[in-house]
Amino acid sequence: MTARTKTAGTAKSPTRLVIHGGAGTITRSKLKAELEQAYTQVLEQSLTAGHAVLEAGGNSIDAVIAAIVVMEDSPLFNAGKGAVFSNAGNTELDASIMDGATRMAGSVAAVTTIRNPIRAAHAVMTNSSHVMLMGQGADAFAAEKGLEIVDPSYFHTEFRWNQLQKAIAQERLQQDHDVVPDTPYPETNEKRGTVGAVALDRHGNLAAGTSTGGLTNKRFGRVGDSPVIGAGTYADNRSVAVSATGTGEIFIRTVAAFNTAAQVRLQHLPITEAADNTLGEIADIGGDGGLIVLDAKGNHAMRFNTRGMFRGTIGGDGIAQVSIFSDKNP
Ligand code: ASP
Repeated sequence: MTARTKTAGTAKSPTRLVIHGGAGTITRSKLKAELEQAYTQVLEQSLTAGHAVLEAGGNSIDAVIAAIVVMEDSPLFNAGKGAVFSNAGNTELDASIMDGATRMAGSVAAVTTIRNPIRAAHAVMTNSSHVMLMGQGADAFAAEKGLEIVDPSYFHTEFRWNQLQKAIAQERLQQDHDVVPDTPYPETNEKRGTVGAVALDRHGNLAAGTSTGGLTNKRFGRVGDSPVIGAGTYADNRSVAVSATGTGEIFIRTVAAFNTAAQVRLQHLPITEAADNTLGEIADIGGDGGLIVLDAKGNHAMRFNTRGMFRGTIGGDGIAQVSIFSDKNP
């Protein structure tokens, strides 16, 4: 195993944290002012939590976890509390994390009782010889490692329950006649709320993490891109850290996060171009969503091909910048 310090940069690296809270049809006309304010507040809290870790000299992995836990604990996002329901009426959560210095990674899929799945992904990375654990085995592993276990009802929110009922009704309609144009996903998925973070610490080390409840009305047992290393999450100090959000099946098929990192490392493309190329490939085969990308110099990109993406960034100056809508399509 490569030691962290071997690939680490100087102790004076600029720090940066970039987060997303999901991409989709998020427009000013659809998002009420109070809700916009509530989202902004949680995004700022998430940035502040991760920034505090980085400023205290902590590592990028801990910053990613701190940022994601804030969003997992907020009912506004589709991760942890407030996650969407599967077609069986339960919440099945996916999460992953990757360390850019060592390229160690951990993930959990379809877990139902872990309050903060991102912590479980981290435990898999640091406390097991595996990369991915799923279902009951992952839930049991998290309990064994002393992580907070909750009753599945903890994740339930009225809003998501109603969203499932609407999706079920729409699917029935779709079976009867129309298919939502250009997408295999029901309309209720147009605003997604997966969360993710990428961070660069003082030592020049990158990390990435992603956490989600998946898609509303997904078939139970379905696993999306978020816990798949290379699809939803990737980090390598030699290129970039990436976290994705969008139509998971297509992000898996385009190996979205690794695809972006590979273009930077092997083709030496600027990070924005690499992210846009990946999103272009995703659009070509019927998907959409967004990517946050950060390199070891602190350059970052927050790109998406949807109407909006909850997103934000904070650097060494401690000024949190949060945006939701597209500049092109506010
Ligand atoms: N990518 C996630 C999934 O397919 C959903 C999302 O990003 O909103 O599970």
